[in-house]
Amino acid sequence: MHVDQDVVVVGAGPTGLSAAVALRAKGRNVIIVDSGEGPGEGSRALVVHPGTLAVLERMGCSDAILAECAPIWGMTIRTRHAVLVRSATRGTTATFAFSAGLPQTRTEAILRARAEEVGVRFVTGRAADATTDESAATALLADGTHVQGRYLVAADGMHSTVREAVGIAYPDTGAQRSDDENMILADVAASGPIDVDHITAISGNAGLLVLIPLPGGLVRMVASLRPGEAAASVADLQRLLDDRGPLDGPQPGRIAIERLTWSSKFHFRHHLAATFRQGRVLLAGDAGHVHSPAGGQGMNLGIRDAFFAAETLDAALDAESSGLSPDRFLDAYAANRRDAATRVIAETNRLNRILFTPPALRPVRNAVLRVAAHTALPRTMALGLSGVLDTGPGIGRAPAPIPSR
Ligand SMILES: Cc1cc2nc3c(=O)[nH]c(=O)nc-3n(C[C@H](O)[C@H](O)[C@H](O)COP(=O)(O)OP(=O)(O)OC[C@H]3O[C@@H](n4cnc5c(N)ncnc54)[C@H](O)[C@@H]3O)c2cc1C
Repeated sequence: MHVDQDVVVVGAGPTGLSAAVALRAKGRNVIIVDSGEGPGEGSRALVVHPGTLAVLERMGCSDAILAECAPIWGMTIRTRHAVLVRSATRGTTATFAFSAGLPQTRTEAILRARAEEVGVRFVTGRAADATTDESAATALLADGTHVQGRYLVAADGMHSTVREAVGIAYPDTGAQRSDDENMILADVAASGPIDVDHITAISGNAGLLVLIPLPGGLVRMVASLRPGEAAASVADLQRLLDDRGPLDGPQPGRIAIERLTWSSKFHFRHHLAATFRQGRVLLAGDAGHVHSPAGGQGMNLGIRDAFFAAETLDAALDAESSGLSPDRFLDAYAANRRDAATRVIAETNRLNRILFTPPALRPVRNAVLRVAAHTALPRTMALGLSGVLDTGPGIGRAPAPIPSR
């Protein structure tokens, strides 16, 4: 049987693009099928953590991200009046001392440019589902055509049709969830006493407010909304800032919003795929896991899934061409990525419990965090968020240079 591609990737989000670039770095033929016509829209995920920068460096993408980003050196959890705990990224990895603040649109654009540069082929505007058999995996396109590969990476997001087509369940993990549309994300140009080095999470009586520095003088606001609370206009967002922003700090004054560049309401759920492998199909990214955005882990985990999927499939293809079974590589990937997602869901759930502590328990939480700030907690927190402990299934080989077209 003639199989066209080494690997077919379904989905051209950050996960699918990363998988394709990393596979090209191994010299593999790869094609991406996406139902959209172009890059994804909207700021969405905006922090690329050090562990993810390390794999992006292997794909030849970290320099472009570092050139554009706002460096983020850690995370501060505080009340309006005082800092409770402050974590520092520096020292979690030898290579990257900070996380990169950059809107997802830019990260995707950098990945897409790299994919085109290294010769990834694209089929766009066509949705796919998939089948897998003994010798190949096939993306079945909505127009009746198909694309066949030795393997297929399902990177088609949380509503993955490939995952459904190959019969993998995606149950709710039962972890803490938000009610419908009770959070607002907004990128604003703002001036005033903003900590431009750290993510600042302020958990107070009026609700949660998180401020995340972005390049170009922008700041991402994330806020919980009370029933009926408005957050559509600059005036609404300014009121949220005034009611929830820090009241202490070296620079007194008010944070003033000058301009709103993007906003979206959202809610979060936690889902985890029952397995990350079915035959010749591997799941990666949101197709395998979704969780709260606390700690900005979703896109990061997806990019690392993609990198490790590429290492796995390279080893599996080599094994098959030597007449050996690829199963141990594929099963190691599936177990490792499900474990990694389970850990991230547990970590984001822990962070949510801290940030959304009910008012009656906040004095206790604050006292505990003040003490914990002098223990190993800040470093443990930084290590967890940085992703540097996520080292994959251990299939790695010496990195190959990315071939030119
Ligand atoms: C409003 C919003 C805010 C967010 N904020 C954050 C944040 O602050 N931090 C964070 O870490 N994460 C955040 N996320 C989540 C983050 O955006 C995702 O984790 C990330 O995009 C996952 O990447 P992915 O490539 O796995 O999936 P996606 O980005 O969903 O990409 C899936 C791709 O598959 C394509 N596709 C879908 N179905 C098919 C099909 N049947 N056939 C072919 N192609 C298909 C789509 O067109 C798309 O290109 C946010 C998400 C949203 C919506």
